[in-house]
Amino acid sequence: MVHDYFMPVTSAPARGGEWLAAGRPASPIATPESLGDDHRLIRQTAAEFVSTEVAPALDDLEAKKWARARDLVRRAGDLGLLGTDVPESLGGVGLDKAASIVVGEAVGACPAFATTFGAQTGLAIIPILCFGTPEQQQRYLPRIVSGEIIGAYCLSESGSGSDALSARARADRQADGSWILNGEKMWITNGGFADVFIVFAKVDGTQFSAFIVERGFAGVTSGKEEHKMGLHGSSTTPLVLADAKVPAGNLLGEVGRGHKIAFNVLNYGRFKLAGMCTGSAKAVVGEAVAYALSRRQFGQPIATFGAIRHKLAEMTERLYAVESMLYRTAGLIDAAVGERGHDASVVVGALEEFAIESSILKVAGSEMVSFVVDENVQIHGGNGFVRDYPAERHYRDARVDRIFEGTNEINRLLVPSMLVKRALKGGLPILDAARALRDEVMGPASAAAVPADDPLAQAAATVSAVKKTALLLLGSALERYGDTLADEQEIVMLVSDVISEAFAAESSVLRAEAAGLADASRAALHADAACLTAYDAAQAAEAAARTAIARLAEGDDRRLLLAALRRLLKIEPFDAIGARRRLADAITSRRGYLFA
Ligand SMILES: Cc1cc2nc3c(=O)[nH]c(=O)nc-3n(C[C@H](O)[C@H](O)[C@H](O)COP(=O)(O)OP(=O)(O)OC[C@H]3O[C@@H](n4cnc5c(N)ncnc54)[C@H](O)[C@@H]3O)c2cc1C
Repeated sequence: MVHDYFMPVTSAPARGGEWLAAGRPASPIATPESLGDDHRLIRQTAAEFVSTEVAPALDDLEAKKWARARDLVRRAGDLGLLGTDVPESLGGVGLDKAASIVVGEAVGACPAFATTFGAQTGLAIIPILCFGTPEQQQRYLPRIVSGEIIGAYCLSESGSGSDALSARARADRQADGSWILNGEKMWITNGGFADVFIVFAKVDGTQFSAFIVERGFAGVTSGKEEHKMGLHGSSTTPLVLADAKVPAGNLLGEVGRGHKIAFNVLNYGRFKLAGMCTGSAKAVVGEAVAYALSRRQFGQPIATFGAIRHKLAEMTERLYAVESMLYRTAGLIDAAVGERGHDASVVVGALEEFAIESSILKVAGSEMVSFVVDENVQIHGGNGFVRDYPAERHYRDARVDRIFEGTNEINRLLVPSMLVKRALKGGLPILDAARALRDEVMGPASAAAVPADDPLAQAAATVSAVKKTALLLLGSALERYGDTLADEQEIVMLVSDVISEAFAAESSVLRAEAAGLADASRAALHADAACLTAYDAAQAAEAAARTAIARLAEGDDRRLLLAALRRLLKIEPFDAIGARRRLADAITSRRGYLFA
């Protein structure tokens, strides 16, 4: 059955963030189940490469044998896995963003190599592809895409991480048009063995700009490997620029426009990181199930205990939600790019358009995988805490996902602020919707009847309620603080979380509806996963909204808002335990992640 949402939509091209105030999308969302044969083929190629070549190399990578990492990147290049974003004319295979996600998910099963791979494909290729001159593209891309040379991306410095634009590295133009760069970049992935670096430095100490710097240029050296908590199989070093000589032709983009490159690369990096997180989480769920089935206590496998089954189901449910958002966003970006994937400005425009979704995905993906690896350690008990089992390494490897590609705090703060900016520019009708909603929820109750025996219909109604809660909060916060809302970070973070819950719940429900129509035999499992996501979203939204409202309003206004919230989130009871038990049964009989 197909369910109705909040407000009518038009068939105009989708805009980033518009789903928050819009009703059901005019066309079906992209889902993992709707992937085509090309995607399935490249997924198989990538998965085989990871299981037969990357996984056996992990010990060598952890021992920092970077020649092995280079060989693996080269092999990935031979298989076409590095060039999904790159047109054939530049040595790539020119596929869509969904294909990049499929490959990223497969590689994500080995997070240390995925970091090397991500720096090569996202951080080195994308800046040159989207902002390089044709000459720069021809000079560098075919060799990076084939894996002949290794790339790295140098934005951060010891004093400027989140505040990347306050970098101190500087570039001075010489009389012959070439550049001298000085400074030290920090935490550079692939730093120990990369051949080419995208380096951000300020021209004359003021104009933030980007350069393509080769290791062979005079004055370029790498510092020592960092001693990290995790990702021991990935190289992280400083990059030292001491009067480094960079030819005139290696300025990337325009002087003073480096922020455009940095932010767009981050947009794409966040979206792709979420794919690596889902890939990693799928591998870990498989491990958790296998262990739970083999480990016996009290005379039976621990997989038979409700406490453990609850964990397996919750890992799956959270993974399902991120995967649903991820492929929906890939579909939105691919639709925006259409047939114009060869045009860099179109690709950059699409990445910018869906920057809100990318930030949501970065936070949700990294927190989901953190949860999954943590529960995996718990399922492993004492064995989860020792190095004999991979659970311990997964736990350490996942921690940085919440830090790089913009910390989760920065990404959380970005979501409402980007929405408000777009609304004020007139591009998104969010503020009108928030005002209309406030009048609606403060007025007499008018709940539409939803069939009690259709849990997915109930979940769709819950999605609508969570979206309304997000709008109510955003509208109330703007009314209370206006231009100074950005200074109220605690409120902004709560609003951000409710918005993300709404996106997760809606994407899951839309996916479950589509999957149920396409394959009745799997409909019930999809419905369970989506209903759990919607149910949890409502609970999380209610808790966040109550905390925010207590700060946003006082007296009668507060009472009215809380009453509106109660009315909005008055959802039917849902047997979450029953749904999780069914998911756990299916997971244990399949011995791994259930979907896609
Ligand atoms: C393994 C690893 C690999 C990396 N690879 C690369 C790479 O290849 N290239 C590269 O350029 N960088 C890389 N980085 C750096 C990474 O991007 C930064 O660590 C990250 O951006 C955070 O910056 P920071 O460490 O300076 O933290 P800080 O910016 O100092 O943040 C510290 C804390 O303060 C919070 N905070 C900061 N500003 C605000 C604010 N305005 N409001 C609220 N809270 C705030 C942060 O969220 C965080 O919790 C890597 C880091 C690691 C650990």
